[in-house]
Amino acid sequence: MNGVNRAKALGSSLAIVAAALLIGFALQRLHIHPANFALVFLTAVFVSAVMYGLWAALLACLASLLAYNFFFLPPLYTFRITDPSNIVTLFFFGIVAIVASNLAAQLRKQAVTAGTERLRSAMLTSLSHDLRTPLASILGAAGGLLAHRHTLSDSAQIDLIATIQEEAERLHRFISNLLDMTRLEAGAIVPRLDAVDLSDMAGTALRRAEQILAGHQVTMEIPRDLPLLRLDPVLFEQVLFNVFDNAAKYAPEGTCIALKAHEEGSVVSVEISDEGGGIPAADLERVFDKFYRARAGDSRRAGTGLGLAICRGFLQAMSGAITARNRAGGSGAVFVITLPIASYHPAGIAT
Ligand code: ADP
Repeated sequence: MNGVNRAKALGSSLAIVAAALLIGFALQRLHIHPANFALVFLTAVFVSAVMYGLWAALLACLASLLAYNFFFLPPLYTFRITDPSNIVTLFFFGIVAIVASNLAAQLRKQAVTAGTERLRSAMLTSLSHDLRTPLASILGAAGGLLAHRHTLSDSAQIDLIATIQEEAERLHRFISNLLDMTRLEAGAIVPRLDAVDLSDMAGTALRRAEQILAGHQVTMEIPRDLPLLRLDPVLFEQVLFNVFDNAAKYAPEGTCIALKAHEEGSVVSVEISDEGGGIPAADLERVFDKFYRARAGDSRRAGTGLGLAICRGFLQAMSGAITARNRAGGSGAVFVITLPIASYHPAGIAT
C-alpha cells in the first residue's frame, strides 16, 4: 500500500467509527443500554479490518475505545473511568477487537494475494456488495433518524430502527462467515465431538433462523428411534442454519422446506429440500466452492458464496459430508448431509 492509499484507508476506518458513533447516538435516544454499543463499535473494527487491513483496524479499535469512553461511559464527556466494571468492558473490548482484526486482516491479505482472477473478482464483488449494502442501509436509516427525529412518527422511527437491526444482523452473518472461512483454512477448526440428538439440533437451528424462515412452511420428519449423531453441536448448528438460510433465500415465499432423516448403515442421512428453482445440473458440485454462486441472478440476493463452502468444510472436519441434487418430482434443491452415528461407550459419549 502506498502512502496515499494508506492515508485513505486510515481515514476511511475513522469514518466507519464515526458511523458507529452516530448509530450509538441513535440507540442512546431509544434508551438502549450503553453496554450494547460496544457491539456496534466492534462491528466497525471488523469492517475496517476486512476492508482496509490491520493498521486501519487497530486505529479503528483505538478510536472506538476513546469514543465509547468519552460519549457513553460515565462520567460522560471525559476520558476518566470511575466504575471498575467499565474498565473490564473496555479491556475485553480491546482484546476481542485486536484478535478479531488480526484474523480478519489475515483473511484480507490472503484474499488479496491468493487465487485466480475469478476468485479475486468474485471475492471483491462479494466484499463490496455484502459490506457496502448493509452499511449503506444502516447509515441511511441512522442518518434519517437523527435528522428527522422531531417530525417522524413513532412507527416510522421503529421502521428505521428495525432496518438498522436487520442490516446489522446481515453484516454480522457475513463477517461470521468470513471468520469461519479463515479459521477453516488456517486449520483452526478442531471439532468437539459429542453424542447429539438430531431433533434437538434441528430445533435450535430453526429457532435461530426463525425470522428468515417466517415466509416459509417448515416440516420435519425425524424417526423417534433415530440414533444419536457424533458431531460438534456448534459447527452443525451453523451448517443447518446456512442450508435453511439458502432454502429461504432461493425458494419463493409460501413454499415448503422439508427436513427428513433416516438411518443408513453406520451413518444418518439428513435431507433438506425446498421448492425453489433448484440448482443447474452442471453446478451441483461447484456450489460448494468458495465464492461460487450458481446463477447470475443469485448475486443480486444477499449472500457471499461462502455458506456452502463452510458447510462442507465443517462437515468434513466432523467426518461427515454434504452433497446437492435436485428434487425428482418437481423443482427444488435437495441438500443431503451424512454424519456418523455415535457408537455407545459406557459413559454414553462417543469418541
Ligand atoms: P450464497 O447463498 O451466499 O450465495 P452459498 O455458498 O450458500 O452462498 O451458495 C452458493 C450458491 O449455490 C448460491 O449462490 C446459489 O446459486 C446456489 N444455491 C444454494 N442453495 C440453493 C438453493 N436452496 N436453491 C437454489 N440454489 C441454491
